[in-house]
Amino acid sequence: MYVSAKVATEKCIGCKICLSTCPEPNVFVYIKEEKKVQINEGRCKGCGLCVTVCPKQALSIGS
Ligand code: SF4
Ligand code: SF4
Repeated sequence: MYVSAKVATEKCIGCKICLSTCPEPNVFVYIKEEKKVQINEGRCKGCGLCVTVCPKQALSIGS
C-alpha cells in the first residue's frame, strides 16, 4: 500500500504540470469542466515528485 498524493482542489489552477511530471500512468485526471485535476489514488506510488512541482502548493502526501 502506498500513501497517495492528494489535491487541495480549491488551490488547483489546472496548469497540468503535475500531470506531465508524474512518472506513473493515469494517476492525474484533468477535469475539463472544472479546469482542475483529480488523483486516481489507487495508481499513485507516493513518490512525491508532483508535490515539488505544483506552483500552487495544491498537492500533498500524508496528513
Ligand atoms: S506522488 Fe508520484 S506517483 Fe503519486 S501522483 Fe505524485 S508524482 Fe505521481
Ligand atoms: S500542478 Fe498543482 S495547480 Fe497545476 S494542475 Fe497540478 S495540482 Fe493543479
